Amino acid sequence: MADAARASVRQRDLIDTAPAFTQADADRLNARFAGVDGGVMLAELFAEGSLGRVAVVSSFGTESAVLLHLVATADHTVPVIFVDTLKMFPETLTYRDTLTDLFGLSNSSVVEPDAAVLAAKDENGLRWSWDPDGCCEIRKVEPLARAKKGLDAWISGRKAFQSVTRENLPRFEIEDGRLKINPLGNWTKDDLETYFDLHDLPRHPLEAQGYLSVGCVPCTSVVKPGEDPRAGRWRGWDKTECGIHTPGAPDVANEGELPPGYEPVF
Ligand code: SF4
Repeated sequence: MADAARASVRQRDLIDTAPAFTQADADRLNARFAGVDGGVMLAELFAEGSLGRVAVVSSFGTESAVLLHLVATADHTVPVIFVDTLKMFPETLTYRDTLTDLFGLSNSSVVEPDAAVLAAKDENGLRWSWDPDGCCEIRKVEPLARAKKGLDAWISGRKAFQSVTRENLPRFEIEDGRLKINPLGNWTKDDLETYFDLHDLPRHPLEAQGYLSVGCVPCTSVVKPGEDPRAGRWRGWDKTECGIHTPGAPDVANEGELPPGYEPVF
């Protein structure tokens, strides 16, 4: 069923009925909001209702509170989607509930891996140990793609400093006819830390224990002093991200850099 199921999923993607934003729309928005504060930008967009069906996708990781606070401040009713791989730390689930309550996020939902796909491809839950790419595909990539099928636009926590294309990361991009919004696109690590302090945002419970980037339990470890913040992810594997790429983008994950379509929601 494996290949047939995947083919079926991809076929349904092809007939997605989401209204198509165009590159011209993204260009216009980039010009309109050039130099405008990200929170002000979101508030204007939400107020005018021009984004159609829009949602935030969040992993409730160590930096997620910033984007969620920005969005909630602009409009706390904007949907928030959490992809639960069913391999999450209990602390992440607690943090999700904490932020949801604290920010008054009133429209949060969870998307999970397809049970039939899990039964077929990861029956014993150990696929991560011999095929982490395949595990991420069925536990993260497919559920997120499924969640986005109902959206016209989505808000990402992607930051330019995490990408090899940092100076080229626009605030508005087009991906499969959907508008992808990167409110934190030009933020630096220092900007994030300042925002945490300024708004007294709670930290992920595991951060103080040395987990600087938090993903799934089997694939996350403590980062040692001097290591890259993401060194604790997939330690021992030649793998740096979860496989969520811009369609058609080359896979450069194994080159030690984050690919152009990298989404740090995980
Ligand atoms: S991070 Fe690990 S456990 Fe989570 S989906 Fe990827 S391979 Fe599986």
